[in-house]
Amino acid sequence: MIYERLFPEPWKIKVVEKIYLLPKSERLEVLKRANYNVFFIPSKAIFIDLLTDSGTSAMSDEQWAGVMVGDEAYACAKSFEKFESTVKEITGYRYVIPTHQGRAAEHLLFSVLLKKGQIVPSNNHFDTTRANIEALGGIALDLVIEEGKDPHYIHPFKGNMDLDKLESLLKKETKNVPFCMLTVTNNAGGGQPVSMENIFQVSAICKKYKKPLFLDACRYAENAYFIKLRGESYGDVPISKIAKEMFSYADGCTMSAKKDGLANIGGFIALRDEKIYEEVKSQLILKEGFLTYGGLAGRDLEAIAIGLKEAQDEEYLRYRIDQVKLFGEMVKSQGASILEPVGGHAVYLDALSILKHIPQKELPAQALTVHLYLEGGVRAVEIGSVMFAKKDKRGRIKYPPMELVRLAVPRRVYTSDHLAYVAEVVGEVVRKKDKIYGFKITHQPKNLRHFTSHFKPIKEIRI
Ligand SMILES: *Cc1c(COP(=O)(O)O)cnc(C)c1O
Repeated sequence: MIYERLFPEPWKIKVVEKIYLLPKSERLEVLKRANYNVFFIPSKAIFIDLLTDSGTSAMSDEQWAGVMVGDEAYACAKSFEKFESTVKEITGYRYVIPTHQGRAAEHLLFSVLLKKGQIVPSNNHFDTTRANIEALGGIALDLVIEEGKDPHYIHPFKGNMDLDKLESLLKKETKNVPFCMLTVTNNAGGGQPVSMENIFQVSAICKKYKKPLFLDACRYAENAYFIKLRGESYGDVPISKIAKEMFSYADGCTMSAKKDGLANIGGFIALRDEKIYEEVKSQLILKEGFLTYGGLAGRDLEAIAIGLKEAQDEEYLRYRIDQVKLFGEMVKSQGASILEPVGGHAVYLDALSILKHIPQKELPAQALTVHLYLEGGVRAVEIGSVMFAKKDKRGRIKYPPMELVRLAVPRRVYTSDHLAYVAEVVGEVVRKKDKIYGFKITHQPKNLRHFTSHFKPIKEIRI
């Protein structure tokens, strides 16, 4: 077959941006100045930036044209009408609340629905979702299926929720669970999809216990494509229809338009229930802005409305999912252990297998992240103990089940040659693994510590 390796980019390139690879000695200096936290590395010192797929998409010519026609009226702008009708069309939900990004949507919704001490289950809460729940005194509970915790177990829908665990939680803690969430695709669990059957079953359990279900829908289009690819009987169903069915089983969603909105900023809440909508509305005006812009400019609303539709384009999704899959194969062929099967938006390195000699308390995934930058100017992100280790009530540190390094692929930004380069950098680091040592934290904030902590290598790095 002619496209066996990769379905080519279904676009051509109109604008380019220069990137630079600094010499290795300078990269080491950059790391020291950043206190070995890649969030503090200046973008101009990065060659390939795979920190995140959030807000890093390349917009299309149509979106840029939309930026020009953005209506900047404070209230009831044309661009909001377009945004609102697009979200309604995609989700089928009646009420649409724009926010400046996904976490603002989470904060608004949770501050209306969640009381201190209450438990919110999900397959895996994303870090901002968890932090927003915890900041309100709630408990964020992950109930992903056991297969989803094993980085090498092959399963078509590793993002699925464990239905027995959900049911027994709701039985035991009926009064103490205000609502349920389901993240599609499951970012913190490796960008793994959730099956239609699982969404349906989660919904049925929630209905039985009269709990609303919200989708964390950031990558709903990628999830829909996986359902088309791997789900029984969805092969001929258009993405828009699959997506609508996914949304139909929930009562609403929170969304970051920085993912499957193909925009650089933005988000929304979409809801079925008028009562919740009324309560969220007053919070919105207090914290984000008027109902028809929610912290965004008219031009952003315009670009998001167009991007949301483009993200449902099947050729785009086929290319996107194929590119990430091929990237995974290239990384694997370099001898690196990765989370499998490869998810929708990123390749995750399994740091516990790659750096077997570094114990979890010495932050193996952080060490791997630092060395990817040092070796090739590649910025990845730690998704391991720095992000998720927590002290229990007795003060003992509880480590997460996986130590991952995420190589997130921005949408429509890098060609597969860029990714082949990154795979070689990973290979170099793997070959030098015995010369890599652990890290310790020298400074950390109270919340979301991965963003701003400082680190120090246990043994000085020499090049
Ligand atoms: C990115 C993301 C969020 C938060 O969205 P922001 O726009 O970054 O605030 C929430 N949930 C998931 C699954 C995400 O990937």
